[in-house]
Amino acid sequence: MINQTMLQLGTKRSAIRELFEYGKRRKEEIGQDKVFDFSIGNPSVPAPAVLTEALQDLIANTDPVALHGYTSAQGDAAVRKAIAEAEEERAGVSVDPDLIYMTCGAAASLTVTLNALCNPGEEVIVLAPYFPEYRVFVEKAGAVLREVPCLPDTFQIDFSALSHAVTPRTKGVILNSPNNPTGAVIPASDLEKLGNLLREKEEEFQSELFLICDEPYRALTYGVTVPYVPAFYARTVVCYSYSKALSLPGERIGYILIPPVMPEGKTVYAALCGAGRALGFVCAPSLMQYAVAKCKNAGADLSVYRENRRILSESLSEMGYSVTPPDGAFYLFVKALEEDAAAFCERAKEFELLLVPSDSFGVKGYVRISYCVSTEQIKASLPAFRALYESYRKKD
Ligand code: PLP
Repeated sequence: MINQTMLQLGTKRSAIRELFEYGKRRKEEIGQDKVFDFSIGNPSVPAPAVLTEALQDLIANTDPVALHGYTSAQGDAAVRKAIAEAEEERAGVSVDPDLIYMTCGAAASLTVTLNALCNPGEEVIVLAPYFPEYRVFVEKAGAVLREVPCLPDTFQIDFSALSHAVTPRTKGVILNSPNNPTGAVIPASDLEKLGNLLREKEEEFQSELFLICDEPYRALTYGVTVPYVPAFYARTVVCYSYSKALSLPGERIGYILIPPVMPEGKTVYAALCGAGRALGFVCAPSLMQYAVAKCKNAGADLSVYRENRRILSESLSEMGYSVTPPDGAFYLFVKALEEDAAAFCERAKEFELLLVPSDSFGVKGYVRISYCVSTEQIKASLPAFRALYESYRKKD
C-alpha cells in the first residue's frame, strides 16, 4: 500500500486551491471579467524592472554552463554575501553569510527549518489564524501542531494563551508577520514581550525554544516596518522568500537566516543543510539566486496594493461590513455576515465573489479577501459586495 497521508494530501486540495480551481472553471463559463476571484495570494504587480534587467544581463553575459549549473547546496557564496550585506543594512547588526541558506521560497524555508529542528512528537505552536500549510509542514517534520488563538479583533498575540500552551514538549513557535490571512504586523513591543516569555519558559523547563519567523510579506507594509526579530530573541530562525516582495512566486526563491547571536547557530545551520539534503532540494534555482543578489534594495511597486486596500476597506466599511485595514500583506480579513463562514462564502459565490472562509485558517466567522488583483477588479466587484450585504438585510 502506498503512503496514505501523501495520497490524502494529493487527492484533497486545500480550500484555497479548491476555490481557485472553481474560479478558473467559472471564468470559462461566464467570462473572466464576470468572476471576482479573491481566492489566492498570487501577486498582481509585475516583478520590478531591475529584476528583469538582472536576468537579461545574466543571460547575455554569463557562461551558460556556470549560470545553469548546481551551486553549493546552501547557495552560491557571493549570493549569500550580498544577502548578508542587505540584511546588515536593514537590521543594523552583523549577519554571517555562512549562516544564510538559499531555498526554493518560504515553503522550503519552513520545511527545511522544521525538519532541521524537530524530533518526533515535539510540538510546534502556531498562532491562529495561520497559513493552512503549516499543519502539513509541521506534521511531515514528525512534530505535532498546536494552535493558540490570537486576541479577537486585533489578531495580535494572546500572551496568556501562549504562556499556557508552552510545555516541555514545545520545540518552537511559528510567527508570521505580516500575517496571512489577517495582514496584522506584530509591533516591537510585543516582540520584546514574546522574547521575555520564551526565555522564561526555557528557564522553567530547561529547554531550548525556537522562534520560526515566516516573513514572505515583510516588504509589504503600509506605514510600518517589520522589526528584525533576532534582536528580540536569539534563537530566531528567519524564513524569507522573494515570492511576494519581488512578485516571483513561480520562480521559487528565498533564504533562511540564522543570526550569529544564536548560541548553537552553527549546529542548527548544519542541520538545515542536512534537512535540505534529506528533502531533496539539492540547491535553490541558480539563475534566480544570481538575479535576486543583484536586486538588493528592490521591491515590487506597492502603490496598486495600497490603492486596492484603501478602496476595498473604505467601500466595505461604508456598506456595513466590519473591516480593520491591516498594516501589511495583501489580505483583508472581514467578519462574515453569518456565523458559518463557509455558508457565507457559498452565498458570496451566487454573486460571483470568491472569498476564502476562515475555518481553513483555524478560526471561525471571517473571510479572507486577497486584494492582490487589478484595481479594475476591485472597483467592478463593489456592486456584488453591496448586493451580498443587502441579501442578508432582506433575510432579516
Ligand atoms: N507562508 C505564508 C504565510 C504564505 O502566505 C505563503 C504563500 O502564500 C508561504 C509561506 C509560501 O510562500 P512561497 O511561495 O515563497 O513558498
